[in-house]
Amino acid sequence: MTKLYPGGVHALAGVSLHIAAGELVAIAGPSGSGKSTMLNVLGTLDRPTSGSVHIDGHDVGRLADDGLSALRASRIGFVFQHFHLAAGTPALDNVADGLLYSGLRPAARRRRAAEALRRVGLSHRLGHRPHELSGGERQRVAIARAVAGEPALLLADEPTGALDSVSGDGVMALLRELNGAGTTVVVITHDREIAAGLPRRVRMRDGLIVDDTRTGSGSGPEAGSALAEAGR
Ligand code: ADP
Ligand code: MG
Repeated sequence: MTKLYPGGVHALAGVSLHIAAGELVAIAGPSGSGKSTMLNVLGTLDRPTSGSVHIDGHDVGRLADDGLSALRASRIGFVFQHFHLAAGTPALDNVADGLLYSGLRPAARRRRAAEALRRVGLSHRLGHRPHELSGGERQRVAIARAVAGEPALLLADEPTGALDSVSGDGVMALLRELNGAGTTVVVITHDREIAAGLPRRVRMRDGLIVDDTRTGSGSGPEAGSALAEAGR
């Protein structure tokens, strides 16, 4: 697929990427190489200029907006560098509000949110507002929100970029744990050490994939169970 922005920038200059269910993939590369564009297109937040994106058997380009919203709400979770939490809103509500379109009743949303916060080790911070939490804790709230709906695919854009190394390690450990429990995880990082520790590394430069390397151990792709596929 390609992504051409107004002004003639080819943020994606012709790439093809296949990610199988259960993978844990790093997308690395210098600033401006197209990583966020790639993630946004994979996550259906943005459409490619040419080419196509297939998620869990759905050709995203053929879905109308409501179908797309439903796919996104039920199958995909997002985590961003700067957390994107609602200011002044307690952790429990920040997570529960992420389930607004899940069809669950308010009480069930709050139960599900409390369970997600327990999963990320924040049971003791349910009533804390973002400004009362450390950066690492904020990102764990954001991860709880992303996984509360039990998405098959978790997309994280520089999730450790605003954190000190200890908090960053905690966030990466959490992403690995979620992957171990079956969630497909794609994480953008420009931290070479973090990328080197993940089982598959896709390296981008100037809108192109210039390297795609797997290391033997860890969660490899499962043949025949394509979850996200771009570029056919
Ligand atoms: P990365 O995440 O690797 O830093 P991006 O995907 O954000 O890179 O951007 C890739 C290229 O596309 C950059 O040159 C950037 O300036 C350009 N770009 C990103 N978003 C837009 C936009 N909305 N409009 C125009 N150009 C954009
Ligand atoms: Mg980026």
